[in-house]
Amino acid sequence: MRWMLPTTEVPEAWFNVVPHLPTSLQPPLHPATREPVGPQDLAPLFPMALIGQEVSAEPWIDIPGPVLDVLRLWRPTPLVRARRLEQALDTPARIYFKDESVSPAGSHKPNTAVPQAFYNREAGVRRLATETGAGQWGSALAFACALYGLECKVYMVRASYEQKPYRRVMMETWGSSVVPSPVDRPDHPGSLGSAISDAVRDAVGREDTHYSLGSVLNHVLLHQTVIGQEAKVQLQLAGEERPDLVIGCCGGGSNLGGLALPFVPDPKVALLAVEPSSCPTLTAGRFEYDFGDTAGMTPLLAMYTLGHDFVPPPIHAGGLRYHGDAPIISALVHSGRMQAVAHPQTAVFEAAVQFARVQGTIPAPETAHAIKATIDAAVAAREAGEPRVILFGYSGHGLLDLQAYADHLAGRLADD
Ligand SMILES: *Cc1c(COP(=O)(O)O)cnc(C)c1O
Repeated sequence: MRWMLPTTEVPEAWFNVVPHLPTSLQPPLHPATREPVGPQDLAPLFPMALIGQEVSAEPWIDIPGPVLDVLRLWRPTPLVRARRLEQALDTPARIYFKDESVSPAGSHKPNTAVPQAFYNREAGVRRLATETGAGQWGSALAFACALYGLECKVYMVRASYEQKPYRRVMMETWGSSVVPSPVDRPDHPGSLGSAISDAVRDAVGREDTHYSLGSVLNHVLLHQTVIGQEAKVQLQLAGEERPDLVIGCCGGGSNLGGLALPFVPDPKVALLAVEPSSCPTLTAGRFEYDFGDTAGMTPLLAMYTLGHDFVPPPIHAGGLRYHGDAPIISALVHSGRMQAVAHPQTAVFEAAVQFARVQGTIPAPETAHAIKATIDAAVAAREAGEPRVILFGYSGHGLLDLQAYADHLAGRLADD
């Protein structure tokens, strides 16, 4: 029921989907001039190696050896068949998931935090600034910076800073310093967009500091493609030619992209993004240029967006609350290559509890969105009488999200 690969089987190159996209990507635009940004515009924020990856059209990009050495601390991750969930649903579907919860930070995010910290250190950068919502990305970058001896400053959305102390403790354990955002408005609950503004301001204002983003950008999705590449090999070991359907939850699009992008060239594989009804970027947003942050300091990206001043409802317990989406994911949805659905949070938590009671592990609330869509697809396969092969991304564990589970179990979570 579990397919493991030896550490020698961590992919040695990242898969670049750009040459395989049905439509070409629109370039990021400078926030002031609205002209396409050049490498020099991004140089205050990112090392040249990452800027090169951001615009690369090379089909494969080699993973540096020192990055592979760190990824091998937990990779390859397991591919698991959710046999007990299949039985509970009485479905002929075969359900597999790629378990990214086994990383030190408990999610897929270290897959990009590690190369980002590596390339920054190679470029002589001493300090990274970043934002975090509930703390998943901040803890991944804190872990990576600890391994490479970089200082790390994390601007954490204030509502989470106050309500979710344990991820902050993780970041501090790895040596990072964490402050609530927005820094200049102590009464404001904050949002990812405003925390990005704080982190970008920090990086632009200091010679020794770069900025680091945990999702959305092309190079982030690129780094995550180790997930889908490993899954392909493991599915073969499991005797499957291909999945019929690949499902991932989508906040900025990095875990979904990491799992799904290597399958884009195969037209027989359907791809599905799952988002919360309270932040329905792909299903109800507009496809247009928008800023990545609230203050309008970042380049404009061509993406599905709810508007850069969108503040998600505070009742929402899960992550996935970014106003925009990765340009690569947006292009795939816009062209029809990928589908998207939105689910309300009570249904999502019901799916999470159902999963935990048969498979055992407690998923992150973000991951539970993919589980909800997987259960729906498995029920549809039962109704159609078809043994479909479903692969979903288990992006992280929920052991630091138990307050959300407590609220759900006590009936305190509402749909908005
Ligand atoms: C951050 C996070 C997400 C959402 O981010 P993406 O970039 O869309 O992957 C999903 N699941 C987990 C566990 C996360 O930590």
